[in-house]
Amino acid sequence: MLPNGREQVKARPPRLQYDVVMRGPLKFFLVLLVLALAGGAAAWLWSSRAEGPRIDLRQPDRFIGQATPLDLRVEAPGGRFARVDVTLEQGDRSFPIFTLAQPAQGEVRQESAERLFIMRKVGSREIPELRPGPARLVVRAARPLLFGLRQAESSVTRELEVRLEPPRVAVLSTLHYVNHGGAEFVVYRATPADVESGVRVGDRTYPGVPASGAGMAADASTKVAFFALLHDQDLDTPISLYARDAAGNEAAAPLEHRAFPKPFARSRIEIDDRFLRQVVPAIAATTPDMGLSTAPDDLLMSFLRINGELRMRNGRMVAELARKTAPQMLWTDAFQPLANAAVEARFADNRTYFHQGKEIDRQVHLGFDLAVTERIPVLAAHNGVVVHAGDLGIYGNTVVVDHGLGVQSLYAHLSSIGVKTGDRVEKGRPIGRSGMTGLAAGDHLHFTMLVGGHPVSPVEWWDPKWMQDRVLRKIAETGASGRAAGGGGGVG
Ligand SMILES: [Zn+2]
Repeated sequence: MLPNGREQVKARPPRLQYDVVMRGPLKFFLVLLVLALAGGAAAWLWSSRAEGPRIDLRQPDRFIGQATPLDLRVEAPGGRFARVDVTLEQGDRSFPIFTLAQPAQGEVRQESAERLFIMRKVGSREIPELRPGPARLVVRAARPLLFGLRQAESSVTRELEVRLEPPRVAVLSTLHYVNHGGAEFVVYRATPADVESGVRVGDRTYPGVPASGAGMAADASTKVAFFALLHDQDLDTPISLYARDAAGNEAAAPLEHRAFPKPFARSRIEIDDRFLRQVVPAIAATTPDMGLSTAPDDLLMSFLRINGELRMRNGRMVAELARKTAPQMLWTDAFQPLANAAVEARFADNRTYFHQGKEIDRQVHLGFDLAVTERIPVLAAHNGVVVHAGDLGIYGNTVVVDHGLGVQSLYAHLSSIGVKTGDRVEKGRPIGRSGMTGLAAGDHLHFTMLVGGHPVSPVEWWDPKWMQDRVLRKIAETGASGRAAGGGGGVG
């Protein structure tokens, strides 16, 4: 046994040697395999954490109507997408809206190397099975990873409401008379109460607000709006009420009215070198971005840029202030004209400018020029809130007071300003002193009324009869009938 045992013991080493020799490459291979598996697992793990495409669903926001725009942007590195699918779900039904595999359903635009812009209409016109009520829009997107072995996914879900009934509008007030270059007021009903509505005059729109803003005891669907037939619009420009809901459903109704022509004056303005030397350098200093030259030979050219370019830019700045209007009527009766003032220029005066006998320019003067003794206190025409107090280009030192419902008053060329933006002012309160800052030859007050940011003739606003017939009467009449209608059964 022993010799055998020894032999056996002796016989083992070669086997061991054999093992070692043979297992060397195998072990190496195993290590590589483990490393590869670990690397693969790490890549797999990484890929499972990789973010899917970025989804930016801008529309629809809250509602789907008959034809609501889908506005969708998806973004992935290299612009590589495995899929983009949009579905609309209602109850247990699911309607495919868009799939990148068949992009013909919508319009797809490559916005950048990474980003796609997807557009189409969704609504009852495309999906007749849609019913009013809640719905859910789901966007699912994926991008390829690991040479297409995996995908990184992302999704966005938006809860929406399907609204198929178009909004309705109806005029409540009577006798709508509008002067060319003047304003008018309407009381109307827009349903459902939360739709955006107002008056459309040609291509201009004037948003309406709840009639409670005009002190009326009416339900939320009763609205009021001021609108204007601007001096540069035709006398027969169509005027209508509109309502548009967030689902894109629209309604319109013509607003029966009479428009009256108002002859606009024409005048001739002589520009002399003294005037150019007086106004051009001062305006150039307050508008450095225009790069106006004040060299003696360039004064006329700079004046023409001030009278054209700057006048237009200042008009847009004034129009912007309409956004700051209050949804309440802050005044109660006719506006206060500046006492003891001689009217120098009327509203919408067509001015032709001459320099050394030669016609150089034409502009419409959109305000009233009131000559006064120098530096007379300028009074607020009615109660309101100051929305601008400072330089305003051709208007020089200017104050704009908001009276609510889109109605504002503007006071220009002031020598000094006594109020600041945000101040509440009362009718007759001094807001500054007259002067000749901006494009003014002498001390005067340039005054205008604005409706929705557009200059309108102030004469109407000074007239107690106009205020009574055009505004206060309608509030009293429709306010009463609105209460009567509401009293029946609390409709709306
Ligand atoms: Zn003026």
